[in-house]
Amino acid sequence: NLSDRLESVFKRLKGYGRLSEDNIQEGLREVRLALLEADVNFRVVKDFVARVRERAVGREVMESLTPAQQVVKIVHDELVALLGGRNRQLDLSGRQPAVLLLVGLQGSGKTTTAAKLARWLLSKGRAPYLVPADVYRPAAVEQLRVLGERIGVPVHPTDTSRPPVETAREAVARAGLQGLDTVIVDTAGRLHVDEALMGELRDLKARLEPQEILLVADAMTGQDAVNIAGKFDADLSLTGVILTKVEGDARGGAALSIQAVTGTPIKFVGVGEKLDQLEPFHPERIADRILGMGDVLTLIEKAQATMDRRRAQELQEKLRKDAFTLEDFRDQLRQLRRMGSLEQVLSMIPGLGAQLKKAKGLMPDERELVRVEAIIDSMTPAERRNYRVINGSRRRRIARGSGTTVQDVNRLLKNYAQMAKMFKKMRKGGFRNLPQGMLP
Ligand code: GDP
Ligand code: MG
Repeated sequence: NLSDRLESVFKRLKGYGRLSEDNIQEGLREVRLALLEADVNFRVVKDFVARVRERAVGREVMESLTPAQQVVKIVHDELVALLGGRNRQLDLSGRQPAVLLLVGLQGSGKTTTAAKLARWLLSKGRAPYLVPADVYRPAAVEQLRVLGERIGVPVHPTDTSRPPVETAREAVARAGLQGLDTVIVDTAGRLHVDEALMGELRDLKARLEPQEILLVADAMTGQDAVNIAGKFDADLSLTGVILTKVEGDARGGAALSIQAVTGTPIKFVGVGEKLDQLEPFHPERIADRILGMGDVLTLIEKAQATMDRRRAQELQEKLRKDAFTLEDFRDQLRQLRRMGSLEQVLSMIPGLGAQLKKAKGLMPDERELVRVEAIIDSMTPAERRNYRVINGSRRRRIARGSGTTVQDVNRLLKNYAQMAKMFKKMRKGGFRNLPQGMLP
């Protein structure tokens, strides 16, 4: 698959001292082939490779970065850009109730996605209303009614003998009266794009003035999905795409091309048939996944972006002065949590001392971090500054306050004490070999 292919390319690029036209040529050829094999639109591939080449050639080797890592970074950045740069949220502003029109070919997953979206909006505190507007297939109306019932979202009692535009208008009015704020219209699909369908959708658009016109497209159809998106966009000016069945699409061609070819951002992806299997689309995360998260460079970058430099320096200062309080411990854990997996973060630090590796064993695991924060938050400032005052009754109070047990509190204090001791030892050894901003 794409990530394996790219990984082998980057491996080969390792060992060059400097990126030159020559040594990168070969690597880029492989990148190009890998993308084409992933069914990415060829024009998109061409532009992509050209941009990467331009940025990569002639770059001096940055300190501590190998040429391969630099190419990884450039490819990563360009992948993110290709995927639309950042997550695009739904626009639910303006006239209420907000109207979302779901369009797309038959079988693409519109009806399922309508229900998934309703469920997602419900979890965000919105009050959705589902409107079946596929009046040509009574089974489709029934399908949405059943799904709505399952997630506890009201479904408009569509009369299939009436024109869909009238039904939808009436549904919006009814939603308003019932205090529902988000109307999701599930439209009819066809097997192919045809004029009758487009005419009806244009009509719906004109009469409903929806905030969002979302194309539901099946990722498994690859470049067909991209072409279909182009056609729907030309006729309806889509505001976004929801790509379904992404979990079954190993190649990723549609996801990688849609934004670039149609200029329409992917807003959500469907990753399964179940109603909770809908996710907001995050270009950064997809790019990370394609390139593999084991990569040292992205991790370092992440660490640096997340770590508040000033705070880190303050903390380092405190460590020097032997004043590593429980508050500092908590802040440190918070920063580490924001960076993602602790193990990955720790393992990426070059020249990591044996001491620091030991720290890994002392750190609570990801799930436990939340509990640790709760415990420390339940302490008084005085307790946080000097844990030695935390006696038995204080421990019980802290456990109660944080919804944990005395054993949890004991374990945390023990870990903290060990870590403070270890830092003290490290302090004596000096702060060598640590990247800037990274704490011992
Ligand atoms: P519609 O004709 O566009 O309304 O499509 P449906 O909502 O009826 O979905 C067609 C089929 O695709 C159904 O079997 C759905 O369960 C399935 N489906 C929809 N979204 C996804 C998805 O994200 N992943 C998978 N695996 N199946 C999906
Ligand atoms: Mg349907």
